[in-house]
This record gives sequence, structure tokens and C-alpha cells, in this order.
Amino acid sequence: MLQGKTALVTGSTSGIGLGIAKALAKQGANIVLNGFGDAEGPQSEIVALGVKVAYHGADMSKASEIEAMMKFAADTFGRVDILVNNAGIQHVAKIEDFPIERWDAIIAINLSSAFHATRLALPAMKAANWGRIINVASIHGLVGSAEKSAYVAAKHGVVGLTKVTALENATTGVTCNAICPGWVLTPLVQKQVDAKAVAMGLSNEEAKKQLLQEKEPSMQFTTPEELGELAVFFCSAAGNNVRGVAWNMDGGWTAQ
Ligand code: NAD
Repeated sequence: MLQGKTALVTGSTSGIGLGIAKALAKQGANIVLNGFGDAEGPQSEIVALGVKVAYHGADMSKASEIEAMMKFAADTFGRVDILVNNAGIQHVAKIEDFPIERWDAIIAINLSSAFHATRLALPAMKAANWGRIINVASIHGLVGSAEKSAYVAAKHGVVGLTKVTALENATTGVTCNAICPGWVLTPLVQKQVDAKAVAMGLSNEEAKKQLLQEKEPSMQFTTPEELGELAVFFCSAAGNNVRGVAWNMDGGWTAQ
């Protein structure tokens, strides 16, 4: 379905980003990976799916590095057809204790990076009259949780940016939508499981159960594979007129 298209997924060396990159690769899209840590393992996983892969290690907190990454993607594959703004970090603390440096980093990586990558991707997408911008927000783009001020502010911002991007391009073949996962068991969430286990004297399994019980009626983690299939839907012809939605995959979290 996506043969000949190129997808750039930020923060795709791990977790949800890698899951989305693999789902798009399975549909035939060439992939530009980004993120920290081991990039070789993820690159081999994508190559094994029969598409081309490239990697750029831009730090998504830096506009100049995002510009270099977007140029690298265009030089390598000609154009970015699908942009998945996914890179993100978390920090948990009450507002009065929240380190200023963590606030700035979360706003830069979880919100401003999506603005920069989007503004740089749009001209080529509009020229081709086809493009897909998928912002990985969170249920925290729709509701709040205590001790996550920067994250919730950034994710609400991402949902707002999604709507404006969709509206500004509503008469073109370029769509923009957000994905809002509940709990997904990635390294980002495992850190929160570990903290809960220590704070409450629980085992890893008990801490996971506790985490789910507080928010997610299904008592199940959403998987990167499931989120990847939602991204594939947004890229399909059936998604041509899906514009500006924030689609949750949250086990009922926000239905309460
Ligand atoms: P993860 O920690 O597994 O992956 C995060 C990715 O972002 C990694 O590839 C990491 O290297 C990359 N990254 C971090 N800082 C970066 C930077 N400065 N520059 C470039 N890359 C950077 O986490 P995840 O759970 O897969 O999170 C992915 C996205 O999904 C995030 O935006 C997160 O907020 C969102 N999300 C996660 C959950 C969840 O439950 N895990 C729920 C809702 C939303």
C-alpha cells in the first residue's frame, strides 16, 4: 500500500516509534529512523521487512538538528511523505518541585520538535498534494494526571497543533491526526512501574497491575503493534478525509 513512499519516524529506536516504523515498513514504505541508543538493531529489523532504511541521530530538542535530519531524509529518499512525530520523554514531580531543565526539555522534545519537523515537511507534501502527519500525543493530550505538568501541557499542545495543521491543509491531500495511547509497556513506562514498585514495596508484576488499575479499565497495555496499525489506517485511502482527530487507544481510560 505504501510502496515508493518514505516515512520518517522520530524517536524510533525504541517502543512505540519502532512499532509504527515496522508497521509502515510492512506496507512497503522506506523508513528514516531517529532516536538515541542502539540504532543498528532497529535498522536490521526494518531491512528484514524488505524496504530501505536510513538513520539520523538528530537530538529532537534542537531545531538546527531537526533541520539537518529533514534535509538528510530528502537527500536520501527524495521526499518525506509520512511524518510521525513520536519522540518523547517523561518526568514525574509536583509542580513546585519540577526541575526547570526537565520542563524545558519536555516542552522542546514532546511539543516543539513536532512543530519544527512539521513546518519543514509541509512544503514537499503540499507540492506532491499527498502527505500524512501523525502526531503521537497521549491520553495526556486529552486529560490530566497529577505530577505530570510538563508532559500534560506538551501533549495538550500536540493535540492543538494537530488540529491547526489539519485545518491549514484541509483542502489538500495532506492530513494530520494524533494518536492518543493509554499505557503502553515501553522503557518510558517501565521506569514508572519501577518507581511504583520501589515506593509501594511491590513486585514488578504487582506494580504493573496497580498502574493499570488506577486508570485503564481494560487492565491491558496497548501495544506498539496496535498503534502501528492505527498509523497504517491514517495512511490508507480510507484516511483521506480523516483530519484533525485525536484518536485514543486507551483501554477505556478517557471513557470514564
Ligand atoms: P521510549 O522511551 O521507548 O521511546 C522514546 C524514543 O524517543 C526513543 O527512541 C528515544 O531514543 C527517543 N528520544 C528521546 N529523547 C530524544 C531526543 N531528544 N531526540 C531524539 N530522540 C529522542 O518511549 P515510548 O513509550 O515509545 O514513547 C514514544 C512516544 O509515545 C512519546 O511521545 C510518548 O510520550 C508517547 N506515549 C507513550 C505512552 C506509553 O504508555 N508508553 C503513552 C502515551 C504516549
